[in-house]
Order: sequence, then C-alpha cells, then structure tokens
Amino acid sequence: NMDKALTLIADNIGRIDDYPKPGIIFRDITPLLAHAEAFAACIDVLAQRYREQGITQVCGIEARGFIFASALAYRIGAGFVPLRKPGKLPRQTYSRQYALEYGDDELQVHRDALTTADKVVVIDDLLATGGTALAAAQLVQDCGAQLQELAFIITLNDLPGVSKLAQAGLPSYTLCRF
Ligand code: AMP
Repeated sequence: NMDKALTLIADNIGRIDDYPKPGIIFRDITPLLAHAEAFAACIDVLAQRYREQGITQVCGIEARGFIFASALAYRIGAGFVPLRKPGKLPRQTYSRQYALEYGDDELQVHRDALTTADKVVVIDDLLATGGTALAAAQLVQDCGAQLQELAFIITLNDLPGVSKLAQAGLPSYTLCRF
C-alpha cells in the first residue's frame, strides 16, 4: 500500500547537519538506494503514476536524478534522456543557466534528444529552490516536447521550489517532504 511505501522511502533518507557547509541540512539518498525494498518502492510509486500517461521519455538531471530516471524509464517502457552539466554532451545542445547561492550553473540537453512528439517527465532527487528544475523544464520546452510533470524523491518545504515551478505553469510531484 501507498502509505507504507512512502513511509519506507522517507525512513531511509539520511540527514546530515551542516553538510556541505554550516546551516545546510543535507538529505542523503544513498541509504535509500542501498535498501532494495525502499529503492524498488520509489520506482514502483513513480511507475504507477506515469505508466498510463503515454510518457515517451524520462529526463534525468545529473547526477542523482539519473539513478531514478533510468530505472523508471525501464519500468514504464520509455526512453531515458540525460540533462547534463556543461561540456559533457558531444553533439549540438540547448543550454540553460541558473543561479546558485554562489555563482551560476548550467544544464544542457542534446537538441535532437526530444521532439514535439515526446511526452516527458523530468526526475531529480531533490527540489530545493527550484532553479535546477526550472532550467531542466526549459530545456524540455526548448526541444518542443510536452512536459507532463517534474517528479522528485524529496521536496524541501521551507524553500520555494514548488511555487517557483507552479508560477511557470509546471506541475510537480514528490514522494516525501522535509
Ligand atoms: P535547487 O536548484 O535549489 O532546487 O537544488 C536542487 C539540486 O541541488 C538537486 O539536484 C539536489 O541534488 C541538490 N540539493 C539542494 N539542496 C540539497 C540538500 N539539502 N540535500 C541534498 N541535495 C540538495
């Protein structure tokens, strides 16, 4: 059952205070990945949500998003498309910069990775300020594909990620909140 699955998932996410710097609470998915039943529960819950929606491609955000996105893609019979940090993709790309606390970062997608015929879900491990996810959504739209939803294992409640995405007209889904 769903509640049991979501509790198992939340219970296997680690918490490290003051990492990588003072004041930050780091949410660690490595115990979740190592727990066979909890990891399977993540993919099963996501697959149940997306399998009847005609999703053709699952986009994963580098690096932790890849882990969940590839398993989900396999499970629902969709392709996997990596959204990568700059300088990693060998062919023509679309590129989107976004602000971090200190400086900028950037995500890229191969221009021909998605088409107007694709219906897409974007996956990352965690939604915080939403900067990363918004850039990911823009890349999907740059390709002309239809973005069905962005999904996260974890959403941080005290940060504006969900509202930032909603303001851009982008629906999001999460397996747990902290
Ligand atoms: P943001 O762009 O602010 O929504 O940040 C999301 C990205 O940063 C995700 O790819 C996360 O992996 C990572 N991240 C941000 N905050 C945390 C945190 N407290 N614990 C673990 N990862 C985080």
